[in-house]
Amino acid sequence: MSAEYVVTPPPVVGLPVVGSSEKFPVRRIYCVGRNYAAHAREFGHDEKLPPFFFAKAADMIVPDGATVPYPPLTQNYHHEVELVAAIGKGGANIAADKALEHVYGYAVGFDMTRRDVQQAAAKNGKPWEVGKSFDNSAPCGPVYPVAQVGHITSGKIQITVNGQVRQSSDINLMIWDVAHIIEHLSQQVTLGPGDLIFTGTPEGVSAVVKGDVMVGSVETLGTLTVKVG
Ligand code: MN
Repeated sequence: MSAEYVVTPPPVVGLPVVGSSEKFPVRRIYCVGRNYAAHAREFGHDEKLPPFFFAKAADMIVPDGATVPYPPLTQNYHHEVELVAAIGKGGANIAADKALEHVYGYAVGFDMTRRDVQQAAAKNGKPWEVGKSFDNSAPCGPVYPVAQVGHITSGKIQITVNGQVRQSSDINLMIWDVAHIIEHLSQQVTLGPGDLIFTGTPEGVSAVVKGDVMVGSVETLGTLTVKVG
C-alpha cells in the first residue's frame, strides 16, 4: 500500500507496441457512434450527422488473446470491430489538417455492446452508458506505430466469429475519417497522450455467446482474438 493514497492507486493500463519493449499507456477511451453509413442504416439512422462520442474507462481494456466473461444484464451481447487511433500528442481545437500529427499509432479494437440494454436506454431518452461502458467492454490489440505502418485511411476491416465472417468493410467507408474525428473530439475535450479513439464500426454487428471466438482485423494491423467465456 502506498503511503500517499488511502487505497491502492489503480495500475496504468498498457497496450503492447509492435516492434518495441515499451508499452502504450491508456488514458481515456472515446468511441465514435454511427461512423459507417451502412451501419447507421441498419439501425434506421441518417448518416449525415456530425460525429458524436461516448467513453469507456481505461481498465475496460482487454488484451489480445484474452477470454472475456459473458457480461451481466444483457441477452444480446454484440461485437463491433473498429479501427482504433492511439493519441501520442495531446491538444484542444485541433484542425483536421494537423490532426494526424497527434496520432502515435493504430490498433484493432472491439467496442463490445450490450445491444438490448443500449437500445432500451436510448428508447427511454437515457444515456448509452449502461449499454456500452462495462467491465471488459474494450478489447484492443497491440499498437502499431505510425512510423511503421503509416496512417490508416483505407484497407479491409473484418471480424469473424468461429471462422464465419460477420462484418467486412473498408476503412475508406468511414463517414468521418480519423483526422476529422480528432478535430471534432478535440473541440469537446482536451485530448492527451494515451487517449484511444475507437472510430466506429461497419455494418453486420451481431450477437456472440459463450464459447464464441472473435477474430478482428484491419489491414496492416494484424488481428485481435477474443473468446467469450
Ligand atoms: Mn462502436
